[in-house]
Amino acid sequence: MRSSLSTLSLLQKNHGRTRATEQSETVIPSSESKNGISKVGIGAILKAAVYDPKRSSPFRLVEVIEVPRPQLVPGHVLLRVMACGVCRTDLHITEGDLPPLLPSVIPGHQIVGEVIEGASARIPMGTRVGVSWMGGTDGDCWYCQAKMENLCNHPVFTGYSLNGGYAEYVLAREDFVYPLPGNLDDAQVAPLLCAGIIGFRSLRVAGVLPGEKVGLFGFGSSAALAIRILQFWRCQVYVVTRGQAHREMATSLGASWVGDEDAIPPVALDRAITFAPSGKVVVNALSSLRKGGVVAVNAIHLDQMPSFDYDKLLWGERQIRSVANMTRDDARDFLELARQLQFRPEVTIFSLDNAHDALLAVKNEDKSGSIVIVP
Ligand SMILES: [Zn+2]
Ligand SMILES: [Zn+2]
Repeated sequence: MRSSLSTLSLLQKNHGRTRATEQSETVIPSSESKNGISKVGIGAILKAAVYDPKRSSPFRLVEVIEVPRPQLVPGHVLLRVMACGVCRTDLHITEGDLPPLLPSVIPGHQIVGEVIEGASARIPMGTRVGVSWMGGTDGDCWYCQAKMENLCNHPVFTGYSLNGGYAEYVLAREDFVYPLPGNLDDAQVAPLLCAGIIGFRSLRVAGVLPGEKVGLFGFGSSAALAIRILQFWRCQVYVVTRGQAHREMATSLGASWVGDEDAIPPVALDRAITFAPSGKVVVNALSSLRKGGVVAVNAIHLDQMPSFDYDKLLWGERQIRSVANMTRDDARDFLELARQLQFRPEVTIFSLDNAHDALLAVKNEDKSGSIVIVP
């Protein structure tokens, strides 16, 4: 349970001043069951897993309670949630590594849902859409104008500064939902929406070129999707990860070499992407690079960055770059690639009632593949 000034400044650095919007409802536990009320009508009561910093504990990170159905507001769509992936960022939120932005919030930012209200010409009623971490931007700050909306000064984040998908229904901004390829199952498409998109952005930030030698440090949901793209680009992939299940999965997905968390790949790498929330892992990745190589750090939060030897590790035009959020272009380009490559990630499904256990499965890395909640 850490929440520190350094974490806050990291967040501000990466995301600008974060603010809640009108649609970010505070969730109040309902006092009694409302059996018999329409599931989608105004005033209906729905089930959601809620993070309340004052009530959360390591034994119950989120609490499954009844909440009022979100009210449709202009420019938004109401979705019936069909699946919601569980991301390590959800764990950082519910364990207090990231400072709370609301009195309570429904986590979840890898949402597959069906449009049931607020349909538009672009997204007709019944369309299956995805919602990701970027829940909206102001559209007019310097970064948005410069096509870097991932760095927007006033972003909103799904499942953090507004309610997310650990729920039966969710509200989302119409221009921040993505129609989904029809050839993928709900549960299998959910992990694509953050793990997939941000993993893809990490490859872009690292500047991966076809045929290069690429290291993946940590092998959870995001890396397991990134390796498919790297293989499509004919790259050789070197995986360094703790956890026997993750090493076995890397081997089964065709990594050229797999080592445990302190191992150094047998060749100098052109690029490396780190997925673990650990500064030590970033230094290991840096020590594996050739001159001119790049480490892209795919983590919203790092425990601590240890000191390291500049002359040996960074000299020679090696670079460390952080990966912050995503743009809608990243999402569209990645989802098109996922459709072409027929991505079908391995998933472990939890019910909404077991949302706490789903978060623990991400923490303990004891399940292979991506963790998904199906309400
Ligand atoms: Zn902006
Ligand atoms: Zn995520």
